[in-house]
Amino acid sequence: PEAITVAELANRMAERVGDVIKALMQNGVMATQNQSIDADTAELIIEEFGHNVTRVSDADVEQVIHTVEDKPEDLQSRAPIVTIMGHVDHGKTSLLDAIRKTKVVAGEAGGITQHIGAYQVTTESGSTLTFLDTPGHAAFTSMRSRGAQVTDIVVLVVAADDAVMPQTVEAINHAKAAGVPMIVAINKIDKPSANPTKVRTDLLQHEVVVEQMSGEVQDVEVSAISGQGLDELLEAIALQAEILELKANPGRSAQGAVIEAQLDVGRGPVATVLVQNGTLRQGDIFVVGEQWGKVRAMENDQGQRVKEAGPSVPVEVLGLNGTPEAGDVLNVVETEAQAREIAEYRQQVAKDKRAAAGAATTLEALMQKA
Ligand code: GDP
Ligand code: MG
Repeated sequence: PEAITVAELANRMAERVGDVIKALMQNGVMATQNQSIDADTAELIIEEFGHNVTRVSDADVEQVIHTVEDKPEDLQSRAPIVTIMGHVDHGKTSLLDAIRKTKVVAGEAGGITQHIGAYQVTTESGSTLTFLDTPGHAAFTSMRSRGAQVTDIVVLVVAADDAVMPQTVEAINHAKAAGVPMIVAINKIDKPSANPTKVRTDLLQHEVVVEQMSGEVQDVEVSAISGQGLDELLEAIALQAEILELKANPGRSAQGAVIEAQLDVGRGPVATVLVQNGTLRQGDIFVVGEQWGKVRAMENDQGQRVKEAGPSVPVEVLGLNGTPEAGDVLNVVETEAQAREIAEYRQQVAKDKRAAAGAATTLEALMQKA
C-alpha cells in the first residue's frame, strides 16, 4: 500500500531525479518523475544510492516517541492543570480574569494583557497552579478525543443566584468521564439573590456531594466581581493537587499538548503548548500531530522569552513547519529526519483515511441513488 513518487524519492535522498529514473530503468522499472513506485522498489533504489532505509510504521512512531518509563526517583511534583467549566453566564470568564488579575503582578512584561490560552498563578501559600483559558466544554472533549488529557482538576462554576443548569450537568458528566476531581465554585455570592444552599442541594441530585453536605467535594463561595473567596478557591485547588500527588520528570525530553494554534502572518505557525512531562528547550526537534518543527523561540504566559519550559508550564512555541490542532500531542525526537518522517507518515495516514471516507460516501451516494 505504501508508495512514493519518483520525484519525492529523489528529493528525500537529495539525488537528481534523472539519476533516480536511470537507476530504476537499470532495475527494469520504467517510471517518470510523477509516477509512484512501491515501497520495496524504493527501498532497493535507496540502498543502491548508499542511503539508509527508514520505513515508518505505527510501531516505529510508538518506539520513537514513547521513551522509557520514568524512574520514581526522577519524578518531581508539578503544578495542577485546572479547567473552569460550568453553565453559560455563570461566570467562567469573569472568574478566570479575576484570578489572573489578583495574581499576575502588574508591570511585568506583558502584564495582564497576555493571551496565550493558559496562565500560571502562585497562591498565598506558595503553590503554583496552571489555568487553562479554554473554558469550553467542546474544547475539553475535543482535546480528550485527540488523545490529550490536559486537565487534572475541574472547577465547576455554579451561579448562586441561579441553579444547576444543563451545562452544569454536562460539565459534571465530562469530569466524571475523564476521572478528574471537581471543586465547586459557588459564584456571584455578592448578589442579594444568592442562595448557595440551593446550589448545594441541587448538586446532590447529580451525585455531587460537597463538603458542606458532609461530602468529599470541596465547595467555595466566591465572587468574581468583588474578589471574595478567590484566595480560598486557589488554596482549595492547591489542596486537591496535593492529594493527587501530581508528578513529572523534568529531566527527560518533553511531551506536551497543544492548547491552541494559529498561523501568524508575521511569525508563521504558532502554538501554545502545555508541557506535560519533561522539559521543552529552545532548539528541540519535535513532532506535533501531523506537523513537526524545531523550537526557534518560546514565550511564557507573561510574554517573556524563555529558553526552557518544564512540566505544567504553558509556552508559546515558534518554529513549526505547519499549524497543528488543539489537542495534538507534541513529542520531542532526536533528529529532524525522524520528526519529518513521523509527520509525513501521519499526514499520509490522515490522507488515506479521508480518501477512504470519501470513497465510502460516494459508494453510499451511489447506493442511495440506485
Ligand atoms: P461565562 O459565560 O460563564 O463565561 O460568564 P461570564 O464570566 O461572561 O459572566 C456572565 C455575567 O455574569 C457577566 O455579566 C458578569 O459580569 C457577571 N458575573 C460574573 N461573575 C459575577 C459575580 O461574581 N458577581 C456578579 N454580581 N456578577 C458576576
Ligand atoms: Mg465566557
